[in-house]
Amino acid sequence: MNISPASTSAEPSGKLKRHDLHIGGSISPPVGGEYILTDNPYTGKVWGEIARGTSADVDRAVAAAKAALPVWNALKPAERGRALFRLADLIEVHAESLAAAEVRDNGKLYTEMLPQMRLMSDWYRYYAGLSDKIEGSVIPTGRANMFAFTRYEPLGVVALITPWNSPLLLLTHKLATALAAGNVAVIKPSEFTSASTLQFAELFAQAGFPAGVVNVVTGYGHEAGAALVAHPDIAKIAMTGSEAGGRVINEAAARDFKHVALELGGKSPNIVFEDADLDAAVVGAIAGIFAASGQTCIAGSRLLLQRSIHDQFVDRLTQTAGAARIGDPMHPDTHVGPIATQQQYEKVLRYIDIAKQEGANCVLGGGPYSGPGAEGGRFIEPTIFTNVHNGMRIAREEVFGPVLSIIPFETEEDAYQIANDTPYGLAAGVWTSDMGRAMRASELLQAGTVWVNTYRVGGCATPFGGYKRSGFGREGGVEAIHEWLQTKTVWICGKPDTNQPFVMRH
Ligand code: NAD
Repeated sequence: MNISPASTSAEPSGKLKRHDLHIGGSISPPVGGEYILTDNPYTGKVWGEIARGTSADVDRAVAAAKAALPVWNALKPAERGRALFRLADLIEVHAESLAAAEVRDNGKLYTEMLPQMRLMSDWYRYYAGLSDKIEGSVIPTGRANMFAFTRYEPLGVVALITPWNSPLLLLTHKLATALAAGNVAVIKPSEFTSASTLQFAELFAQAGFPAGVVNVVTGYGHEAGAALVAHPDIAKIAMTGSEAGGRVINEAAARDFKHVALELGGKSPNIVFEDADLDAAVVGAIAGIFAASGQTCIAGSRLLLQRSIHDQFVDRLTQTAGAARIGDPMHPDTHVGPIATQQQYEKVLRYIDIAKQEGANCVLGGGPYSGPGAEGGRFIEPTIFTNVHNGMRIAREEVFGPVLSIIPFETEEDAYQIANDTPYGLAAGVWTSDMGRAMRASELLQAGTVWVNTYRVGGCATPFGGYKRSGFGREGGVEAIHEWLQTKTVWICGKPDTNQPFVMRH
């Protein structure tokens, strides 16, 4: 978990852009009157301030959502779907400014964030189309005059808690589905990257959503976040974030038996066999760890190389990664941008030191980057370690930065054993030209997503989520709609019976 950014109760300086809460369709200052400073990872400069919501604000937001629930559910499912379609259109109209807002806060490449905004539209359209297709079933009872059917009902007011790395897309993975299923939401974005979510929330009124269907309370995890999780009117908490944050939320939610879904961290293996297309595998290995400066949950941070190709693969990898252009995340030619938060920057550098102390061999990078175009920003060189074994901390713990650990293996069995020997299970990659091996790998790897001869692809139609400590619950695809519904079984007796009341009716 990150250490919180600083907060202030000072009057706005005039230079800083102030962002307030979004409650019941209105912009609203926080009850406590305090704000959190937010900076730009590329310049290191504070540019804005974000409302520091507290439990009083959470109470207001949950009350607004609760009041909106019957209004939202009074709409025909197809009308709810139409609102989601309109939202998708508006996202396309505002894609550039939303993407720029993301980059200003999290430092990811604009060339990645802009397509993410367009991908978000796909998600809203996918679930818009599903909103009027939530069908129960009639179940044979085997008895005359006795009918049984299921109906699916929304859970109610749901809490959506998001991290700093891709705030709007990761929110969309939850929100599109939750709304299509008839729920209303209170969102708590990361205290490091809240501005884009507040900007996005303004589109809901334009899309014709009733006020209060979507609310945003910004603030710290241990304040606004904890108050939201503890609120008695919250039916489900869906959180994407760290293992530590997820554990606290899961424990708190368990006290009130709330529904929980957690999308947490990973230490994903990317396995290259000697029979692979090595050109493609080099590209896949780089996409797995240096895209987004390694700040993705699905980062292929453990590269498992079959011994026979190890040395030549490392040479090609270091050459290509070493040529990456580091700098301004808004520039279309940049390959590697800054690290989103100061705490994360320090954490990544700590792990680089740990790897060196553990005896790993640094063959690329290994420290901060301050070359041309990176002055003032939080940059770390793409870093590659060889001579890593799976017992080292650098191979077991999530770094969430541009740091790759290379682990050699001999046989196919060794590869699966090393790959699965991890507390996490979010994703895995396999590079091979042997279809039988690809099938075996997809069966034997313990991960929620397995990619064969590709890495880091996804979409709204495919379920995504973790095994083991990477969390539980699935986002995406038709099945995910059921994560936001509860099933009611209705029994109807066509002929009232007067049988013996003291035994159960079988
Ligand atoms: P984090 O756990 O520090 O924070 C995530 C969110 O949880 C923030 O909004 C934070 O304010 C909130 N939070 C923290 N403590 C809370 C509490 N006690 N009660 C309520 N809310 C609380 O995570 P982060 O550093 O923002 O994000 C990085 C992590 O997210 C990495 O571990 C990464 O792997 C993970 N992640 C996972 C996925 C996935 O889909 N599995 C995707 C992206 C990121």
